[in-house]
Amino acid sequence: MDDILIRGAHVVDGSGTPGRLADIAIRDGRIVAVTTETGRQAHRVIDATGLVAAPGFIDIHTHSDFTLPLNPRAESKMRQGVTTEVVGNCGFSTAPALPGRVQMLRDYLAASAPWLDFRETTFTDYMDTFPATSVNTIMQVGHHTLRLMAMGHEDRAPHDDELRVMQELLAESLQAGALGLSSGLFTTPGGYATTDEMIALGHVLHRYGAGYASHIRDEANRVFEAVQEAITIGEQCDIHVQIAHLKLSGTDNWGGAANLLADIEAARQRGVRVDCDQYPYTTATNPLRNLLPTWVQAGGMEEMLERLADVDVRERLRQDIEAQGLNNFGRIPSWDDVRIAISPHQPDYAGQTIGDIARRRACDPLDAVCDYIMADQGHTRILITSMDEADVQTILRSPDILVGSDGTSLAPYGVTSQGKPHPRFYGTFARILGHYVRELGLLSLPQAIYKMTGGCAAALRLIERGVLREGYWADITLFDPQTIDDVATYDDPHQYARGISTVIVNGEVTIDAGEHTGALSGQVLRRGSGGVGTA
Ligand SMILES: [Zn+2]
Repeated sequence: MDDILIRGAHVVDGSGTPGRLADIAIRDGRIVAVTTETGRQAHRVIDATGLVAAPGFIDIHTHSDFTLPLNPRAESKMRQGVTTEVVGNCGFSTAPALPGRVQMLRDYLAASAPWLDFRETTFTDYMDTFPATSVNTIMQVGHHTLRLMAMGHEDRAPHDDELRVMQELLAESLQAGALGLSSGLFTTPGGYATTDEMIALGHVLHRYGAGYASHIRDEANRVFEAVQEAITIGEQCDIHVQIAHLKLSGTDNWGGAANLLADIEAARQRGVRVDCDQYPYTTATNPLRNLLPTWVQAGGMEEMLERLADVDVRERLRQDIEAQGLNNFGRIPSWDDVRIAISPHQPDYAGQTIGDIARRRACDPLDAVCDYIMADQGHTRILITSMDEADVQTILRSPDILVGSDGTSLAPYGVTSQGKPHPRFYGTFARILGHYVRELGLLSLPQAIYKMTGGCAAALRLIERGVLREGYWADITLFDPQTIDDVATYDDPHQYARGISTVIVNGEVTIDAGEHTGALSGQVLRRGSGGVGTA
């Protein structure tokens, strides 16, 4: 007798091949049959007539380590059909946190994780004590975090002993089962690192067979060089590289997607192991302070806040931005393209644009930005519309570019329901399957599902996940291909996607008839010699 039998589904198995009508039998957390044979008995039968059965979606690029301890039900992700999240991205991780450095890390991450409790911890202890959650999690250690631990917020190369501390902390994290190292070279303090520093860390990754995930140094005017830098690190260290949220930011760079994809394909052709992910929106989200040139953040938050009060500093900022556009985002059509998302100390501003604020205060927009950062102590997060829809679609059509939300798990209730976060936190996967597959026909359903499942599993070297196959873990999502869609908007982001009826994680039904059952059957998946899986 099976535990669960999913009957009559259109099975799209995650390999990219066309779907077929079949039943899926589950026992002891695993898929025991994908079959057209009749007569199987099960404790529970789920009628999947008219529904697609796919592997649970793998969100290869997220920041849910900031919220899973606060909302272990992973609501906004579960309701999109996500069953595995890769966390610790863009150089940000909440561990390790060394004695005497916890407050520094808390302050640094406040614009991303304003509600999270920080404590002293090694990476091993962090992984061992991560709370039970609804999703499987895969952890990465962040380069910003390592640098903060080793040398604070200094704008310089590390001394030998400081580099050794970073390498040792990285090795400790990898021994614990971290997937690899993430970097966020677009901002501080990681952006103060040279390529050589990253290569020195990459050699440690190579020793453990671990990978390197990068929010590259620039996604705007120097995006081509930044992609090359990531490829160089992968090539020189012989490690897998994951380029995060591939995009071209800033009006000067619009239209370059095909050339960027060609560069990546050329690296693959010569044997570099490089993968990329993407979220399907023209708007990004980041701490407001990161739009400013990186020199202004040297030394850390307090020093930055002091600098921002200085008229000469503001003049230099103004000139830099006029010459180059915004840090990492390039030129944007107007300051109305930057809107306040979450502002812990000034929550009433959520939803307003910098243009709005400057007009109301009758001041220059850059002064409005500096004043705002000072009033909110650098903790504010913004949304910035800086991409071209045609580039987004070119990248999305590419069969090898994977899907990652770059979003955190949120819920429309409780502490994570504050502000107006990016709608991708609630909508990414449903938006691709609804808007881009069904409405625009930009790619086929099996292709889209491959980019969310089998393709991610291969990039991550996941053991027995990502494809619907006998013997594999039963991470399964059922959805209605006629109704699946994202509902979250910039004005009203805290809305669950629709059309996902059942989500099963390690054989446990977690979304049942569209509602969360409260199951917390996710596992922390660790990298070992054979790949990434349960210990
Ligand atoms: Zn990022």
